[in-house]
Amino acid sequence: MPILLNPNREKSLLRRHPWIFASAIKHVDENHASGSTVDLLSSEGHFLARASYSPISQIRARVWTFVDEPVDKEFFRKRIRKAIALRNMGLDTPLTPALAGGARAEHSGLLDHQHDTNAYRLVHAESDGIAGLIVDRYDDVLVLQSLTAGSEFWKETIADILVEETGIKNIYERSDADVRELEGLKPITGILRGAPETLLQITEYGLSFQVNIATGHKTGFYLDQRHNRHRVGEFAKDRDVLNCFCYTGGFSIHALANGAKSVLSVDSSADALALLEENIAINNLPAERHTSIEGDVFQLLRKFRDENRSFDMIILDPPKFAPTAAHAEKASRAYKDINLLAFKLLRHGGILFTYSCSGGVDAALFQKIVASAALDAGTDAAIIEHLSQGSDHPVSLHFPEGAYLKGLVCVKG
Ligand code: SAH
Repeated sequence: MPILLNPNREKSLLRRHPWIFASAIKHVDENHASGSTVDLLSSEGHFLARASYSPISQIRARVWTFVDEPVDKEFFRKRIRKAIALRNMGLDTPLTPALAGGARAEHSGLLDHQHDTNAYRLVHAESDGIAGLIVDRYDDVLVLQSLTAGSEFWKETIADILVEETGIKNIYERSDADVRELEGLKPITGILRGAPETLLQITEYGLSFQVNIATGHKTGFYLDQRHNRHRVGEFAKDRDVLNCFCYTGGFSIHALANGAKSVLSVDSSADALALLEENIAINNLPAERHTSIEGDVFQLLRKFRDENRSFDMIILDPPKFAPTAAHAEKASRAYKDINLLAFKLLRHGGILFTYSCSGGVDAALFQKIVASAALDAGTDAAIIEHLSQGSDHPVSLHFPEGAYLKGLVCVKG
């Protein structure tokens, strides 16, 4: 039975935004199963969209389609084909069919040609028209993350389609993000298809990285920062670099490989730092130019300030301080704190690469925070570049929430 909306609550759907909040719903006829497909009707009974139902979540329904069409295996196949086609855009050699028959990935295709990589996001949830579904490709393994009741309902079907459409036989599941709780879903991790190894080696701009898809953050690697890591490399030559929140060393490896004078990497995770050391070794980089510190960035930046330490380049890539706008104020203080300290530690002419992946802090607010950090640090600084997530993390124009990563490259005056 369809779901009737309250009067005037169809507006967001008419703008093709895919979320319906509980408060917008007037009447649900019966107890729909978690993740099942329902029709959304205006208060006057007009068809608006077909959606997945999530009985517990405040986001009570997420749209599959605004068209009166069946939502079945073929529907998801079309969406996945579209997502694959997007990643293949502008390529001579498509990325995934090369893998049919189980061959290992060749370095061919858009992302591979442009970025020399075999790891990228294949499905970016709402922005690819499949709410709640993340699929990342790491060479010959796909890592699937299901975040919502709807994606959970169709998970097995989607896994079959992924194998059929990509030719990749191995799928590992990392449905262990906290947001699943809001949908009444328990964490699930493990093999979904085939026999994937969990410690993989991937390539990014010709550099190698070890990725642990079973225990790493998110699906194993911060694929959204690929291009930004490359940019850091392009500015790193002869600089003393401080990489804060370094994880497995993405930015550090790019800096070292591009002639940084020294790189100091800081993270609170010993496991991440252990992989960073391996990443230095497998790329044959000069380990004597690198130091890792396991510790808290907030404390360490203060210690460095008190010791009058200074750097030519600082990278700040903290975890998500503000998952939603409700956390924005507290998050703003945290962003300001680290950016202020970074401006103090930078030498004149030094470069700050500063990021926020918080959905609750938009690009305009982030720029204001960084500006007030520079002001309180008593320095001039100019933005020379605005950065965002890579093109394999598209943003639907109807779903601005999909644009979560913003970065500023600032030069201290
Ligand atoms: N720049 C990385 C990704 C950073 S993710 C890349 O390109 O791969 C954020 C990292 O911050 C995580 O590795 C997490 O372990 C670390 N972290 C979180 N809070 C921290 C803190 N207070 N001090 C130091 N590291 C922290």
